[in-house]
This record gives sequence, C-alpha cells and structure tokens, in this order.
Amino acid sequence: MNVSKENDHTIEKILSLFRWVFLIIAGGYYYIIMQGTSISFFFLLLFGVVYMTAAEMALHRSPLNSKRYQYMTKVSVGFDYVAFLWLIVLTGGGESPLFPIAYLIILHVAVYWKFSGGMIAALFLGGGYTGILLFSDYSFTGENLIPYLFNWMFLIFIGVLGGIIVTRERTMRSKNSQLEDIARKDFLTDLFNHRSFQEDLRYCADQEKPILLVLADLDYFKSVNDQFGHLVGDQVLRKIGDVLKKQIGTKGRAYRYGGEELAILLDSTNIEEARTCLINIQVAIRNTTFTVEGERFGVTMSFGTALFPLEDSMMSSMRLADERLYLAKKQGRNQIFWYDQNVEKGSRLSQR
Ligand code: GH3
Ligand code: MG
Ligand code: MG
Repeated sequence: MNVSKENDHTIEKILSLFRWVFLIIAGGYYYIIMQGTSISFFFLLLFGVVYMTAAEMALHRSPLNSKRYQYMTKVSVGFDYVAFLWLIVLTGGGESPLFPIAYLIILHVAVYWKFSGGMIAALFLGGGYTGILLFSDYSFTGENLIPYLFNWMFLIFIGVLGGIIVTRERTMRSKNSQLEDIARKDFLTDLFNHRSFQEDLRYCADQEKPILLVLADLDYFKSVNDQFGHLVGDQVLRKIGDVLKKQIGTKGRAYRYGGEELAILLDSTNIEEARTCLINIQVAIRNTTFTVEGERFGVTMSFGTALFPLEDSMMSSMRLADERLYLAKKQGRNQIFWYDQNVEKGSRLSQR
C-alpha cells in the first residue's frame, strides 16, 4: 500500500476520534456548565452524530483510493468549519473556550492542501469568527480587542507553520520514494534490480505465494553489441524492459537479474493465465524490431520456467528454472522451456 496514503489515513482516524471527543466535551460544556436549552444545539449534536457516523463508515469500510473515501475526507473539512462556527455561537461567541478547535481544522486542511490550504483555512476561520462576533454585537474595543487580535494572530501562525511543516514533509516523502525507487530499480532498464528479486523471492517463499518463476536470457546478445555497438545494445535492453513491463502489468514483476539476463515472477494462482502472459511476452519481444542505420533487426529470448510451490522449494525452483533455461539454449534458443518439459518455440525470425 502507498505509504503516504496510509499516513494520511492515520491522521484521518485520529481526527475522527477527536471529533467524537469534542462532541462529548461540547455537549457537556453546553448542557452541564452553561445549562443551555437551545433546540439549535440539539440539532448541532444530531447533525454531528449523523455526519460523523457516516464519516467513520467511509473511513473504515471504503478503500483508500475510492471516490467515497476521498470525498468524505475532504468534505469533512467543510463539516468541521460549519460545526465549529455553530459551536462557537452556542458556547459563548467571543468568550467560547472551544476556539482552539480552529487550530486543528487548519492543520487538517493543510494535510490536503499544504501551505495555501493552511492559509486559506486560517483566513476563512478568522473571517467566520469575526462574522459571528459582529452578529453578536461584540465590542471590538478596549480589553475585547486584544484577545480578538490574538486569536487572529494564532490562526495565521498555525496556518503558516502547519503549511510549512506539511509542505516540508511532503517534499521529504517524495524524495524518499525517489530514493526507494533508485534502490529497487535497475537504472538502464527501469526493471526491478537483483536485490529486489532476492527480496521478492524470499517474500513469496515465506508467504507460499504460487508463482511462475522465469529466468530469461537474450539470445546471441554479444553479437548485437559486436555488430552495432554497446549503445545500441543498451537501447535494446531498455526496450525489452519496456515490453516486459507493458506485458506483465499487475500480473507480476520483471527484474534485471544481471547483464542480459532477466527474471520474471508471475502470479500463478491461475497457471493458464501466467502461461499466457509469458507467451505474450515472447510474442511481443519477437514483434519488436530495431533499426540502426537502415538495417532492421530483432532479438529473441530463451526462457526457463518453474512453478513454486507446486514443484518444490524456492531454492529448487530456482535451480529448475535455471536448468530449463540452459536446456532452452541448448535446444536451439528462442523458446520457452516449460515446467512440464514442453517447449514453446518462438518464430525463426532474426536468429543470429
Ligand atoms: P547466448 O545466446 O548464449 O546467451 O549468447 P549471448 O551472446 O547473449 O551470451 P554471452 O554470455 O556470450 O554474452 C552476453 C553479452 O551481453 C555480453 C555482454 O557484453 C552483453 N551485455 C551484458 N550486459 C550488458 C549491458 O548492460 N549493455 C550492453 N550493451 N551489453 C550487455
Ligand atoms: Mg545471452
Ligand atoms: Mg547470459
């Protein structure tokens, strides 16, 4: 799962919990301390309970990428704003002790809309707060003016600071994910690197995940380098990387095992689907042509396969795939040597 979404989800869960706490505090403060009786407050509580229950359900039941989840988390900012102003009106306007809730709302907005969000939230909250005071004939003079101005100042400070912190955290996150990418990917082909391959193998072995394990090697690749130069050889490898990523999609992963040797792990919950995917890869490579100084050429690949855990342990599956790759090479290259000893011959085109 996306780490940043997971982090934001944690913040949402905490804020959602805070809302329930504030609902109880506001209710207690209004009914017990202020001895209030307004029907409006009852509706505010009711509105809060209904909205917050719906928000909780979206938070815990909807997938993080779903429209419903995104919608609820963002709309909740609007809810917080309306509920906050309503609460301030009912709990003493300028004297309400619940004013600091505004700081939380600003931070919440900053999580989604960073610096500009934090500032806009501060201005909206300050504006709404001023409006309430104007309507309640608050006197903006003398000893009332100082707390009013302080409240404004803190709103702006929290908006600025919250915005800066979130912006900084987002920049760090994106740099981190770039670094993670660098650590896990091969620079030339943009496929996953050997280290990722070993990690994923261990993960699949631990989880007993059914996979079609494929070791692949470009045929006569040395002669591509010899004939067209290493730069063209590099371009070929890059293109093969693109073809593999496109064909595999979410069905598995492709890795640069080293040099012109690649590895593929395909989800084989449905073995036929995994088989078809590998055949499609073979066909797609066959259909890819390169042109250098007017000369067109193609490349072929040999594949050795093994089924984990159906055949054996992960270590043995690796050994089997390796042996089968060797057999595919030995029997003429440009073919898939299947786990059931069958072979999938590629076309004869562009054999070197
Ligand atoms: P076979 O069909 O037996 O696999 O023949 P081959 O020529 O592909 O195998 P061999 O092991 O003789 O040569 C592998 C070649 O792959 C040699 C090496 O220069 C080339 N190669 C490995 N990594 C790279 C790379 O990153 N870029 C380029 N351009 N060539 C590479
Ligand atoms: Mg080779
Ligand atoms: Mg090789």
